Amino acid sequence: LFFYIPSFFSQKYPPVKFLSEKDRKRILITGGAGFVGSHLTDKLMMDGHEVTVVDNFFTGRKRNVEHWIGHENFELINHDVVEPLYIEVDQIYHLASPASPPNYMYNPIKTLKTNTIGTLNMLGLAKRVGARLLLASTSEVYGDPEVHPQNEEYWGHVNPIGPRACYDEGKRVAETMCYAYMKQEGVEVRVARIFNTFGSRMHMNDGRVVSNFILQALQGEPLTVYGTGSQTRAFQYVSDLVNGLVLLMNSNISSPVNLGNPEEHTILEFARLIKSLVVSQSQIQFLSEAQDDPQRRRPDIRKARMMLGWEPVVPLEEGLNKTIQYFSRELEHQANNQYIPKPKAARMKKGRPRHN
Ligand code: NAD
Ligand code: UDP
Ligand code: UDP
Repeated sequence: LFFYIPSFFSQKYPPVKFLSEKDRKRILITGGAGFVGSHLTDKLMMDGHEVTVVDNFFTGRKRNVEHWIGHENFELINHDVVEPLYIEVDQIYHLASPASPPNYMYNPIKTLKTNTIGTLNMLGLAKRVGARLLLASTSEVYGDPEVHPQNEEYWGHVNPIGPRACYDEGKRVAETMCYAYMKQEGVEVRVARIFNTFGSRMHMNDGRVVSNFILQALQGEPLTVYGTGSQTRAFQYVSDLVNGLVLLMNSNISSPVNLGNPEEHTILEFARLIKSLVVSQSQIQFLSEAQDDPQRRRPDIRKARMMLGWEPVVPLEEGLNKTIQYFSRELEHQANNQYIPKPKAARMKKGRPRHN
């Protein structure tokens, strides 16, 4: 018997490695349609695993994973992790949670439910099916830190009733839950304390500093610095983070591990750097400072270096240039999406995929 399979079918998806049944894992990524989750989806799909993305599309978008829809190794479920979920998997990357301050402050009660009830549900699932769970925790567990740089031994300095508490305390409880399920029920857990990350697929309205500054610089608007700009952050490019998450998941380290780039700059330095990379005439505008804004943040990554053999490899300027390219394309895309009547596009040759 001979089946004719037109070549465009096999070319529709990015290339995927073949993995034998023994090495192929069923992997759940909660929040997989978001910024970090969609890049993690790409890596695990290309490595040849079966990936199920669960997302409620609060800040994520179908567009971030659309290139996998229909692939036999891929499934997208529109589901809120605050509700129980019964599926069969080997590993869970638990990323579901709004991550940018404006997003997590938009509905603090929902942020708390997602990080507490949502994490409880994913741990219940991990327990039932014997899966390993990796929690996407955050440098925010260190709060406005009194120790610099922050290592994993530091317990943090968090205001439990401030505007960031829904997220910071939510993630702290999520970590607590992981270790309770590990000790009491034998669930295998991994905890990544992720520091500031940037890259393509950040939402235009994300509101975090890198996307704000790039979009402002590209549009000739003033770059909005909150406070004096003397507060510091250290930024890693998303591909470095994704490599670290996969290494950590497959390691035997159950205690928390920092993943971040230790190159620290003031926010004002970031504003100037982005302005110069974009070659922008934008002004720098100083606005009032954000409440409880951590003043200094830089990861101590000795543990990840020693135990995972991991460290960031993408230089800041290279990552920023890629992200600038991404956002300039997004702005064009947006401009093209305004309802300006245009002549109908010529039909593509039969059998070739259409890209809009
Ligand atoms: P993001 O907002 O792009 O992604 C979060 C995803 O989770 C979105 O797709 C969103 O729709 C989904 N989600 C939110 N609530 C949900 C719910 N109740 N049920 C199902 N899905 C839900 O943010 P991101 O930057 O990709 O962050 C991913 C994870 O990494 C988050 O847990 C975040 O706390 C953590 N993290 C990120 C950073 C960073 O700098 N990007 C730093 C520290 C920690
Ligand atoms: N849970 C889930 N999927 C599963 C198993 C459990 O969503 O496959 C949820 C379940 O609804 C519960 C939570 O996870 O609210 C914690 O589960 P656990 O078994 O630890 O607690 P219990 O059900 O005994 O209260
Ligand atoms: N920030 C800023 N202008 C902006 C957005 C953020 O000056 O338009 C500052 C913010 O006050 C903080 C730093 O940049 O000091 C990083 O903020 P972001 O929201 O990106 O992440 P955070 O690390 O605070 O979670």
